[in-house]
Amino acid sequence: MVHTGDGKGKTTAALGLALRAFGAGLKVLILQFIKGGQSYGELEALKFLSESSPRIKIQQCGLGFTSQGDKSEHKKVAEETLQLARKEILSGDWDLIILDEINYAVKFNLISETEMLELVKIRPPQLHLLLTGRDATKNLIELADLVTEMKLVKHPFNAGIKAQRGIEF
Ligand code: ATP
Ligand code: MG
Repeated sequence: MVHTGDGKGKTTAALGLALRAFGAGLKVLILQFIKGGQSYGELEALKFLSESSPRIKIQQCGLGFTSQGDKSEHKKVAEETLQLARKEILSGDWDLIILDEINYAVKFNLISETEMLELVKIRPPQLHLLLTGRDATKNLIELADLVTEMKLVKHPFNAGIKAQRGIEF
């Protein structure tokens, strides 16, 4: 599955799916590329769930905004996240794995498209995999079974309204 497009809702829809899958008894892992160092509402909410059940886990694996900091550092961390994703995909420990913002990691050249496509190709057939982020590549879209494009119609950012707590983070 792929959530892409320039509209808001890719990550939040992925988290909605995580909630649904968890409630249905599935084991859910969320690995977030790039994100890190900032408090997000979903992290706090999922902490509650994780404390009561090992069937759901969220891990922020990035250094935060790619516009800040050394690109080689971002690259190194993204490469480590890729290895972790590979290990978890092959582990058989999960029913659903969400790789949040992985498309952005490819777009920003932190990992290669080939490496990302490899993750999809090695997936055991019973494992559900969801990749999010703008600008999903043509090859990923071809390989996926389900692709949803969030389309920007209007966003308050364009009216000068900054990210709002509980809505954006
Ligand atoms: P969300 O996490 O809210 O579901 P997203 O995953 O679709 O959003 P990203 O591309 O990951 O969006 O961008 C992260 C942040 O940028 C989000 O908090 C979102 O509100 C904001 N954002 C998304 N689309 C736009 C847009 N078209 N213009 C300005 N800001 C945007
Ligand atoms: Mg997102």
